[in-house]
Amino acid sequence: MTVFGNKNYDLAIIGGGVVGLWCAYFAAKAGLKIALFEANTIASGPSGGILGALMPHMPTQWYEKKQFQFEALIDLETLSAQLDAESGLDCGYARVGRVLPLSLPEHEIEAKQKCDAAAIQWARPNRSYKMQVVAKPTHKNWPHASIMPHGATIDNFSARINPRGVTGALMECISGKVDIFENTPVGLADDRTPTLPNGTHVAAKDIIVTAGLNSFNLLEPFVPSLSGRPIKGQAAMLDTKLDPNLPVVHQAGVYLIVHNDGRTAVGSTSEREFSDGNSTDQLLEDVIEKARKICPLVGDAEVVERWANLRMQPYGRDPLVGPVPDQSGLHICTGGFKITFGIAHRMAQAVLAPIVGNPALIIPPSFQVENRVNHIFPMA
Ligand SMILES: Cc1cc2nc3c(=O)[nH]c(=O)nc-3n(C[C@H](O)[C@H](O)[C@H](O)COP(=O)(O)OP(=O)(O)OC[C@H]3O[C@@H](n4cnc5c(N)ncnc54)[C@H](O)[C@@H]3O)c2cc1C
Repeated sequence: MTVFGNKNYDLAIIGGGVVGLWCAYFAAKAGLKIALFEANTIASGPSGGILGALMPHMPTQWYEKKQFQFEALIDLETLSAQLDAESGLDCGYARVGRVLPLSLPEHEIEAKQKCDAAAIQWARPNRSYKMQVVAKPTHKNWPHASIMPHGATIDNFSARINPRGVTGALMECISGKVDIFENTPVGLADDRTPTLPNGTHVAAKDIIVTAGLNSFNLLEPFVPSLSGRPIKGQAAMLDTKLDPNLPVVHQAGVYLIVHNDGRTAVGSTSEREFSDGNSTDQLLEDVIEKARKICPLVGDAEVVERWANLRMQPYGRDPLVGPVPDQSGLHICTGGFKITFGIAHRMAQAVLAPIVGNPALIIPPSFQVENRVNHIFPMA
C-alpha cells in the first residue's frame, strides 16, 4: 500500500469550505499534523459567496440549537478580530444589527413577544443584546417607510461577515501549518482510510468529513441513513457606496447587506428545482428589483457580480457534528445550511474537542449523528 506523502497525519480533513478551514485552523493551533483535501480549489463552492448574513434564530421557543448558535455568534466577534490580526486581512465582520419590517397587523403581537424573549435569552453578564419595535425606519430609505406599515423589529445582535474575507483569512492563517491539497478529491476505503483516486492511502488517526453535500456520498457505506439535498441560491453585489454600518435588512426572503467597502450584497433565491446550480437567471433579477424597492438607498447602482451556488440542507435540517457511531476515528461536521458562517467555528471546535483532548462542547442532541440515525430526531 502506498502511503500518501510518506507521512503519518494526526488528522485528515476532507473538504475545504468554511467548515473545513475552521477545523484546520483550530487543529493547527492544537499542534496537530493535518492534511486538508479539497476536490476543487479552497472555498470554491457555496463558501465562496458574497452575502454573509449572521442572523440569530428568533429568541422565542428557546432550546439547545438556539443556544448553540447564540454562543457561536457571540464568539465570532472576537474570533474574527483575532483572524484579522493574525492574517493581516479583513474578515469584513461587523455587528450592524438587523431590521425586520412588519407588514401585517398580527406581526405586531409576535414582534412584542420576540422583544420580551430577547430580553431574557440574549442577556449576558457583560453586554446584553436587545430587540425592539420601531414605528419608522431608523435610516431614511433603509428600508422605505412603505415597506414597514406596522413598524419593524430592530436588534443590535445580528451581524455580517464577508464570506471571501473570512475564508481568505483562514487560509492565510493555516498556510505553512497545514498540508493543503487542492484539486485532490478523496474517498473513504472500506476500512475508512482516506484514499486518493490513484489508490494512494492517507495515513491519519482521525478523519473529519466536511465535504458539504458530498459528505453523505462519502459516508454512505458507514451511515447509509444520512442524507441531504441541494437548495440553489442566487445573489448579487451592487456597486453602492453606502455606510457600512447600515443594518442588515431582511424582508420576505430578500436580504440587503452593506459590506465594509460600501457595496451592497443582495439575495437570495431558495430553489429546490433547478437545472444548473451555478448559473443566474431571471429569479435573481427579480430579487434585485425587490431589493431596490425595499431599500431605495441602493438606487440604480450597477450590478458588479451575479453568483449562484448550492446550499446543502441535511434531512433533519440541523447540522451534523461529531463522531460517526461505531466507526472509530471517523467524524462528520457539515450541514449548517443558511447559517453556516455564523456557526462553522463552533461546529469545528465541537467536532475537534475529543480529537485534541479538549473538554467536550455541548452539541445539541439534534446535531448528533446517533440521534439522527436512530430517528430520535427524524430525518424528514
Ligand atoms: C446564495 C447563497 C447565499 C448564502 N448566504 C449565506 C449567508 O448569508 N449566511 C450564511 O451563514 N450562509 C449562507 N449561505 C450558506 C453557506 O454558504 C454554506 O452553508 C456554507 O458555505 C457551507 O460550508 P461547508 O464548508 O459546509 O461546505 P462547502 O462550502 O460546500 O465546502 C465543502 C467542500 O468540500 C469539497 N469536497 C466535496 N467532496 C470532496 C471530496 N471527496 N474530497 C475533497 N473535497 C471534497 C467541495 O469541493 C467543497 O469545496 C449561502 C449560500 C448560498 C448558495
